[in-house]
Amino acid sequence: MLSTADIVIIGGGCMGSSLAYHLATRNAGSILLLEREKFLAMGSTGRNAGGVRYQFSTPVNIQLSIYSLDIISRFEELFGISAEYRPLGYLFLLTTPGQMALFKKNIALQQSLGVHDVRGLTVDEIHALAPLVNLEGVLGGSICPRDGTADPYTVTQTFASQARQLGAQIETDTNVLAIEKQNGGGFKVITGKGDIATPRVVNCAGPWASKIGKMVGLDIPIVPLRRQFFNTDEIPQIPRNHPFVIEFETSLYFHPDHPGLLVGMSNRNETPGETYAIDEEFHLETLERAIYRLPLLENARVVKQLAGLYEATPDAHPILGQARDLPGFYICAGFSGHGFQHSPGAGKVMSEILLDGTSKTVDVSMLDLERFREGRAIVEQNVV
Ligand SMILES: Cc1cc2nc3c(=O)[nH]c(=O)nc-3n(C[C@H](O)[C@H](O)[C@H](O)COP(=O)(O)OP(=O)(O)OC[C@H]3O[C@@H](n4cnc5c(N)ncnc54)[C@H](O)[C@@H]3O)c2cc1C
Repeated sequence: MLSTADIVIIGGGCMGSSLAYHLATRNAGSILLLEREKFLAMGSTGRNAGGVRYQFSTPVNIQLSIYSLDIISRFEELFGISAEYRPLGYLFLLTTPGQMALFKKNIALQQSLGVHDVRGLTVDEIHALAPLVNLEGVLGGSICPRDGTADPYTVTQTFASQARQLGAQIETDTNVLAIEKQNGGGFKVITGKGDIATPRVVNCAGPWASKIGKMVGLDIPIVPLRRQFFNTDEIPQIPRNHPFVIEFETSLYFHPDHPGLLVGMSNRNETPGETYAIDEEFHLETLERAIYRLPLLENARVVKQLAGLYEATPDAHPILGQARDLPGFYICAGFSGHGFQHSPGAGKVMSEILLDGTSKTVDVSMLDLERFREGRAIVEQNVV
């Protein structure tokens, strides 16, 4: 392993891999990515539902989606391997007048930024798109037909292998144990396999980003929050192109995923922690709600359950940029449950921040760490 590097990236999920690739395309010097697991994408990236969408509530998230989904949808053309993008459409079910008003505003914003095919739906239109769904209490909805799903593993592994081909070094099985600030600037990154001297460190440690921050005395407000979902066996009545349905009030969602449906819901009472154990009580709550909205699930068999960690920030936006109090230390983490879909754009803008001093592709300057203490945080309303 290198003992010096121009840039050290900590974390080999979708963010670290995308950043390594985007830096490597720019001749950014020696790039070293450190991942403590034996393989890449073993953190949140390997435990996510694969959803990709344009339907967010803030300009910065919508712009990150526009850039990122363009890459994901053209992955095969760009990299020679498909990201398995499936434009199923995210179909939001809205059950209160407040949600109807919020989505009306969001749709206008999304359209104004160029997402022209997003639209509001009446209950009859929802029924026509998803006739098996129980629409009791639903007042309306929204859909963007280019929202859908894609494969996080392929995207992450492809960015990593392209980065390697362009000269970046990726070390798995390498745990970062400590980071020492050096007199006169720069860092010594201490790992189980040796130390690396570097002027720049990027924290791409997802739900563990706060722990990496503590190593250099930074308070990074990202907490790990368990989220879980299950898969069913085949449900012949559900077409493979059935929309990705989300009930906004409860956060219940389901979409086709081999062999049947992938069904999840966020436990709003979940407290920060790192467990991957399935909460069986909450699983039953999810199942009950899912059967209410999709009655034929009553006869389906659960074939898999999986828990992962959201990397939640107070405003449900990521933290992107250099820490003002610690020159040379950068953060690209805290995507609050929607990071996979933004990983192409996040890697690109972070590479610009590192190499050009500012992001050009999408202006993410408002996503700096300092926004929390300076009262500039704006909440993303459309994360469930
Ligand atoms: C149940 C669930 C469903 C989700 N659904 C979606 C979805 O539908 N769409 C979507 O876009 N997003 C979704 N997400 C969110 C998405 O998975 C994350 O936002 C994204 O994977 C974050 O990527 P990351 O690279 O920042 O973090 P991670 O993938 O967690 O990568 C961080 C890496 O850092 C490594 N690391 C940590 N500490 C150290 C250390 N000390 N030394 C070395 N390495 C270290 C970890 O091992 C890990 O591999 C979901 C998440 C969950 C849990």
